[in-house]
Amino acid sequence: MTGLVLRGASHLLTMDGPDLSGVDIRIEQGVISEIGANIEPHDAEIVDVSGCVVTPGLVNTHHHLFQTLTRAVPAAQDALLFGWLKSLYPIWARFGPEEMRLSARIGLAELALSGCTTSSDHLYLFPNGARLDDTIEAAADVGLRFHATRGAMSIGESAGGLPPDMLVEREADILEDCLRLIDAFHDPSPGAMLRIGVAPCSPFSVSRELMRDAAILARDKGVGLHTHLAENDEDVAYSLETFGCRPGTYAEELGWTGPDVWHAHCVKLDAAEIDLFARTGTGVAHCPCSNCRLGSGIAPVRAMRDAGVTVGLGVDGSASNDRASLIDEARQAMLLQRVENGADAMAAREALEIATVGGAKALGREDIGKIVVGYRADIAVWDISGLDSAGSWDPAALLLAGPRRVRDLFVEGRRIVEAGCVLTIDAARVSAEARRAVEKLSG
Ligand SMILES: [Zn+2]
Repeated sequence: MTGLVLRGASHLLTMDGPDLSGVDIRIEQGVISEIGANIEPHDAEIVDVSGCVVTPGLVNTHHHLFQTLTRAVPAAQDALLFGWLKSLYPIWARFGPEEMRLSARIGLAELALSGCTTSSDHLYLFPNGARLDDTIEAAADVGLRFHATRGAMSIGESAGGLPPDMLVEREADILEDCLRLIDAFHDPSPGAMLRIGVAPCSPFSVSRELMRDAAILARDKGVGLHTHLAENDEDVAYSLETFGCRPGTYAEELGWTGPDVWHAHCVKLDAAEIDLFARTGTGVAHCPCSNCRLGSGIAPVRAMRDAGVTVGLGVDGSASNDRASLIDEARQAMLLQRVENGADAMAAREALEIATVGGAKALGREDIGKIVVGYRADIAVWDISGLDSAGSWDPAALLLAGPRRVRDLFVEGRRIVEAGCVLTIDAARVSAEARRAVEKLSG
């Protein structure tokens, strides 16, 4: 058999024009090749998706997969950002390649169940021989489309920074490893399953020179740039005190604006910074659950969207969200804008658009995020025959009432989740491995 036909979607949310119902989707060689009623299957495998809402796969624009092994750590459960980091650094310092691979496999499988087909990751510490290659290997195992960003920290405690000295690297080594990774793994072609980005951890953990050099390197190589920016009041105060300017100005001065840049959080962007981001095409990875969990505040997403800023969603690291569900993140984004701006401030549909089209744009992708002929076949299938949709008058309004896990998930036309189970990993085995890893790390 060649290809697939998804047969009879009750609701097809293409995120590109009106919703459709009762239609089929043909997938050939990883690409959506036809959408319409009663598609002739020829010799394709048929997957019945009647009784389901079908959406584009969701796009996760910010994560630290390694943190999956440090969820709900007691000392960090109720701390603010800087205190939270200080409790967790010593635990992360005990990680090695095996912990990186295991945490990434678990985190990506959890994301897949929540409808995510593409994830970025921001790995910014490399203790005991760990490398970005470890998470890249895990993403290939799970089968998600992956944007691995090479993070870094270079200012340790002894130099006035936040992280312990043993977790920071020499800046020359950081840049050299970025080059190695881009040359070894970055695929700029359409439909790429793997891209690399350059991502110093945050303005408070690397030097001004590294921020500048990272931007020059990324532009030279044609890869994306990512970091944390304006996450909370402490972050802005640090910028004013240390650099004498707000985070937006700092970013602009060092080349960190443009359509190839996306910044995580941006909770505290002011009106001038929102205007800067809109003018320059700079993207934002909005992480509402993490912002709530750390008490950082409510990002001005309504104002950003109205100004034309590209906004995608991120679950952020599992240590500051604890749960990595992208569909939950979309619902939380919708609810938070309503808390701030009223019940009509963000419709369920708009939040889903941010989770798909917005995320794809933030990552610089024009081949995912919609169900359109010629786009990659990254598709989430949500069963609406269960209790969580029962009684709904608008089953397509998934973020108001609907399942929180997919029935099936396709990435590049390959089925990763079937009947609510991830096909590419042994969930019981990796969960048992995680329990052993937590015992070892906490012992
Ligand atoms: Zn983060």
